Amino acid sequence: MMDAHKLDCEAAESDCRFIVQSEDEGEAIKLARTHMHEVHGREVGDDELREEYLQVV
Ligand SMILES: [Zn+2]
Repeated sequence: MMDAHKLDCEAAESDCRFIVQSEDEGEAIKLARTHMHEVHGREVGDDELREEYLQVV
C-alpha cells in the first residue's frame, strides 16, 4: 500500500476544516498551496509545505 500525503489545515490554521489527502505528493502540495493562497491569502513554498504541513499517513 502506498503512503498518502495529507494536509490537515486545522493543525495549521485554526477554524479551517480543509483536509487534502493524496498518494501523489506533488498533487497534495499543489492542492495545499492553492488552498493556502485562495483561502488564507498565504504563499507557502513547496519545501515549507513538505516540512511543516504535510503528514505521511
Ligand atoms: Zn485552510
